[in-house]
Amino acid sequence: MNIKSIVEFVRDVYKTDEFIPLHAPVFDGNEKKYVLDTLDSTFVSSVGKYVDDFERKMESYTGTSRAVATVNGTAALSAALYLAGVKRGDLVITQALTFVATCNALYHLGAEPVFTDVSPVSLGLCPVALENWLLENAALTDKGCVHRKTHQNIRAVVPMHTFGHPVELDELIDVCKKWHLVLVEDAAESLGSFYKGRHTGTLGEYGALSFNGNKIITTGGGGMVFCRSPEAGIRAKHITTTAKVPHPYEFYHDEPGFNYRMPNLNAALGCGQMEQLDVFLKRKRSLAQRYERFFEGSEFEFVKEPSYAKSNYWLNAVICENNDSRDAILAEMNASNVMVRPIWKLMHRLPMFESAMRDDLTNSEKIEARLINLPSSPVA
Ligand SMILES: *Cc1c(COP(=O)(O)O)cnc(C)c1O
Repeated sequence: MNIKSIVEFVRDVYKTDEFIPLHAPVFDGNEKKYVLDTLDSTFVSSVGKYVDDFERKMESYTGTSRAVATVNGTAALSAALYLAGVKRGDLVITQALTFVATCNALYHLGAEPVFTDVSPVSLGLCPVALENWLLENAALTDKGCVHRKTHQNIRAVVPMHTFGHPVELDELIDVCKKWHLVLVEDAAESLGSFYKGRHTGTLGEYGALSFNGNKIITTGGGGMVFCRSPEAGIRAKHITTTAKVPHPYEFYHDEPGFNYRMPNLNAALGCGQMEQLDVFLKRKRSLAQRYERFFEGSEFEFVKEPSYAKSNYWLNAVICENNDSRDAILAEMNASNVMVRPIWKLMHRLPMFESAMRDDLTNSEKIEARLINLPSSPVA
């Protein structure tokens, strides 16, 4: 298959000769109305009805027991890890194949990442690789799960639902139970994705979502923490604000708060976008089907949702034959004004995480060398 025909196909999908971005937001519902309403009401900041509305909408859509809106996805993940008990010096196991925000969130709590390999089926954390690393390196003691050599606490496991494709959650939950680890799902990319009928981010003890401008819905900047237990939900609200003990006028704060609150202005945009989510999901699924049919029988392997899951198909992806063919596509398509992107560099190649413990990362490296993302904005 020649690269020109891929460019032509994408141009035909988007019906334009102009630049085609990887992902652009769409605001054709009540977004403008709700945002202007916050200006008229003067409630643009940390107090207002849209924050509550947005949280309740998200709870009823996903079935999480408590959703707490935050200023961005990194903050949501950081709050989730803090609530999971991650402390200075701890180890947190995650994927090397992820966006850097996953690791930044734990880094600022003073924790260190451990990278284990991903599954070629989900592109997310592989339960077998996770368990193998634990068997080789970890021990269960009266202090919990610790690293046998460094004696650091291994506190949490953070799988990421890459491009919206759910990881193998049942198997990961089993490993976490066995090893006394807290499961925190990085569901930043997977709003609208379901694992065996349950929404991603609601199966782990905590989940974190992002509403950055390139995600399936956006609040400008924003995120959300999902909590499985109602008690954790109350604490999530407490620490992501100022940890103020309710009182009509006295100021008393009983622990250090983060002020990770989402402003009402952003939540208003989120409420408008949430009303459009089903439309976006339908359009994304039909776009993915068009890509899948187009690449069928070619040397490119279209990345499909795992059989056990329903993906939001946030970003479409294909695996190229090799690194050279990937590079050729990246150069020619971007030069033709059709944006395509490689997957992120693996986290242990970045200077701040280069000394992190890791397994052989065989699948991660293969995907890193060969995957490209294709334009994925929802088309009507
Ligand atoms: C987008 C994203 C985040 C969080 O992003 P913010 O820009 O902080 O909202 C975290 N993890 C992954 C995998 C992401 O794609």
